[in-house]
Amino acid sequence: MRWLSGALSLLCAAGCASARPRGVPLRAGATPAPARESLHISIVYPGPTDVIQARDSTFLFGAVRGGVGRESLTVAGTPVPVLANGAWIAWVPLPDDTVAAVRLVVRSGGDSAVQDVMARIAPRYRPPPSRAAWIDTTTFAPSGTLALPLGEGIRLAVRAAAGAVVRLRLPWGATIPFVPDTLPAEPTWGVRAFATTTTAYRLPPAADRYVAWLPAAPLCPDGKSACATLEAVVAGDTATTRWPLTVGLMDMSFPTIVVLNDDTAHTGTTDSLTVGKSVPGGTYNWFFPTGTTAVLSGRWNDQARLQLSKSSVAWVNAADVVPLPAGTPPPGGVVGSVRLRPGPASITLRVPLPEKLPFQVAEQERTLTLRLYGVASDINWMQYGGTDPLVTRMSYAQPAVDEVTITLELARRVWGYRTRFDGRDLLLEIRRPPAIDPDRPLKGRTIVLDPGHPPVGATGPTGLWEPVATLAIALKAKALLEQAGATVLLTRTDSLPVDLYPRTHFAELHDAEVLVSIHANALPDGLNPFVNNGTSVYYFHPRSAPLARALDRALVTELGVRDLGMGRGDYALVRPTWMPAALTEGLFIMLPEQEAMLRSDEGQGRYARGVVRGIEAFLRERAQEP
Ligand SMILES: [Zn+2]
Repeated sequence: MRWLSGALSLLCAAGCASARPRGVPLRAGATPAPARESLHISIVYPGPTDVIQARDSTFLFGAVRGGVGRESLTVAGTPVPVLANGAWIAWVPLPDDTVAAVRLVVRSGGDSAVQDVMARIAPRYRPPPSRAAWIDTTTFAPSGTLALPLGEGIRLAVRAAAGAVVRLRLPWGATIPFVPDTLPAEPTWGVRAFATTTTAYRLPPAADRYVAWLPAAPLCPDGKSACATLEAVVAGDTATTRWPLTVGLMDMSFPTIVVLNDDTAHTGTTDSLTVGKSVPGGTYNWFFPTGTTAVLSGRWNDQARLQLSKSSVAWVNAADVVPLPAGTPPPGGVVGSVRLRPGPASITLRVPLPEKLPFQVAEQERTLTLRLYGVASDINWMQYGGTDPLVTRMSYAQPAVDEVTITLELARRVWGYRTRFDGRDLLLEIRRPPAIDPDRPLKGRTIVLDPGHPPVGATGPTGLWEPVATLAIALKAKALLEQAGATVLLTRTDSLPVDLYPRTHFAELHDAEVLVSIHANALPDGLNPFVNNGTSVYYFHPRSAPLARALDRALVTELGVRDLGMGRGDYALVRPTWMPAALTEGLFIMLPEQEAMLRSDEGQGRYARGVVRGIEAFLRERAQEP
């Protein structure tokens, strides 16, 4: 299972098969607790606290215990194979209800056992049967508290009775018309992320979705009065309800200037980052060091919008934003002359800035481009400080009136880089690629392996917990890598939980040349595990794509399961910039056969060999780079 983009929190999307507790007891309605040896069925998912976030079908998995061999199991009347160790997984249709009652019957020898499961299903809005007009009050978008510059458009969306005339009545007497959203309905994120068949994408247009455009103006200041009211009229029936949205205005003539201060890691050091997202709560696109200053241009609930330049904005956590005294001028000015300083392991670009301005580093195969927001260029000199072979050329450009780019062309493919402020200067440190022996590519390399989880982690049908398997695999891979001459460090060597930031920080502190995070996969609710499973490997920065490809190929060869391929994923363990990093999802722990592999010495050894051969292939490829 993967950690989603939450930087330091461990997010598993609702219903992800990983968050479920271990050792789930038998459900209500079960026969009394069986004596040892007696035939019974244990269920790992869904557990008593799980709420299934799916509509059509769901998976159930667990194990048959106490059988004498050749067990036959039916789940909701359908035969389900049982592995020799008792593990099973079933894919069953769901009723249009908030509870699914599923009967499991197992026979073994002359014995049989029955298990009834009451699975909870996430409730959905149900239109009142007696009314023609209705509004789904769970679908107001946006809702909550919003602040924007006067007149900026807000896209509104809501679900209401099909065929209705829908409009928003504003407190000053005006109305805003809604139009039907005629596009096909959007699949859930889980389908986009995991589904390997396109049937899951083919959803019919939703006749009950409406959209509108509202220019920002003060609305509903206390959350109760002077609010907007939504009205849906159909067949002579009218439904009305208050739109739960407060709109305030952002003064852009005298803007609020903020400084970013993220201390979620509580490291007490200056290297903590505030992540910037293109949409509120979206995936990570900018990494701003503490102390970065910017103009505040919007707020939506717990998200704040920064105006980086005239054409660029980024959303950050509002908790990371500290306003400077009223009257503080917006950050900006000019970028002065830059200088390279060569060092033994890296070369550092020093960029003098008028303030700690927002920036972004973009990498391509042999270039790094530093984009500075809110500044004009006054770069008179670009000093190379010698003729270091790593940086072949520097250049700068002013692609917009208030954005400057500085591009470094490298003689070698990018291995890693990192940035920090030194006073008002921005330092971009570029790592020298290691000298790799193409015949013994692992010799002398420093590799950090990250056994995924705890906290959390997925559980398989017979109760195998993901962190147990990932540590066993990492230890086997460590031994193999050390035999080949590498120095190997593990981010975790026991069962105590380690958060995400300490893991990536550990890899950087030890100057890891490669970081690989080892996981076992699980599906979110609503996806058929029989067609959506296999090996996959994830990376974030372009330089890590060849590592992900080499790992995926080696793991598919070793493990012999379906190749789901490599992918770019917004996961904390693949975001470090100082070294190539990849996250492996070699097997699906929720599938009986793959759980059995993850449990066995032989299967763990195959996974470990895949990791080692993947790293070795990546290093050999880099050694042969011209
Ligand atoms: Zn995982």
